Amino acid sequence: EAKAQGRGSYAFYTQALTRSARVRMEMEADLRRGLAREEFRLNFQPVVDLASGRIVGAEALVRWQSPAHGLVPPNRFIPLAEETGLIEPLGDWVLEEACQQMASWIAAGASLDFMAVNLSPRQFQRGSLCEHMEDVLRRTGLAPARLEVEITENVLFGAAAAAERKLHDMRDSGVRIALDDFGTGYSSLAYLKRFPISKLKIDRSFVHDLPRAADAEIATAIISIARALGLDVVAEGIEAPEQCTFLKARGCGYGQGYLFGRAVTSERFLRLALQGPNVTAPSPSGSIRLH
Ligand code: C2E
Ligand code: MG
Ligand code: MG
Ligand code: MG
Repeated sequence: EAKAQGRGSYAFYTQALTRSARVRMEMEADLRRGLAREEFRLNFQPVVDLASGRIVGAEALVRWQSPAHGLVPPNRFIPLAEETGLIEPLGDWVLEEACQQMASWIAAGASLDFMAVNLSPRQFQRGSLCEHMEDVLRRTGLAPARLEVEITENVLFGAAAAAERKLHDMRDSGVRIALDDFGTGYSSLAYLKRFPISKLKIDRSFVHDLPRAADAEIATAIISIARALGLDVVAEGIEAPEQCTFLKARGCGYGQGYLFGRAVTSERFLRLALQGPNVTAPSPSGSIRLH
């Protein structure tokens, strides 16, 4: 009786496994097809200078407009793309598209300091990453100093000499490196000394309960570490004015979150960036357009 039941649940287990393996394989095939059919889009979220409210940069965030699955958020396909290696062609496309958009915004007169692009650990293991990046920058005409690469602490955890070399090569070429989701990974303060990091991004889980509770202490500590080391600091996931006020008072330079704006299409981002004090290029009549 117990044996029969055991066999039964084993059969059920393999069935479920087979089904999840099939779903995964189908998803992988859909991803592959989606790449070939250009179903991916970039949206751009503003990063603002908290003191002036000015938009200083954009973070490129990928979306998949799939005929089979609808609009798929990155958390639902990036991990699979990582496992299957599809992140390489996808990441190449993201980098090129982001740099090209940034170059076109600058040409349109937007005054923006940086375009931030997320790089996952697997992309970082690739030998030709830096050459590829320099190639894209040359092709799109974007100044290296206007590209910012976002990595997580997990990329640095136990980083091989090769990965460390890549970070230094990138930094030497002028590209800036930001540590994303800071405080949630395998954090080590030694990394901040060893790797050429320019910016810390306070993870939104530490912004959520501001100005209350432990978040106030953690956010304050991250801001003071960044300032002491001469790093820029951005708070992610700012949704409420109280969070913003707190962070500003503690000396956080930059912010990102729904309070300032969600990720939007390239056209909408350009319109936002050209508003207010974000215009540098004179209009054809020679006067500066202010809204
Ligand atoms: P991330 O790099 O930490 O990006 C920030 C995420 O927080 C984005 O989610 C953004 O839409 C969301 N967010 C921004 N402001 C707020 C807010 O005020 N409240 C809340 N609740 N959320 C906010 P998204 O676009 O779904 O991206 C999720 C993650 O997927 C990213 O986290 C990043 O790790 C990854 N990802 C996105 N695009 C790419 C890409 O092109 N390449 C790679 N490798 N990873 C990417
Ligand atoms: Mg990011
Ligand atoms: Mg983040
Ligand atoms: Mg994240």
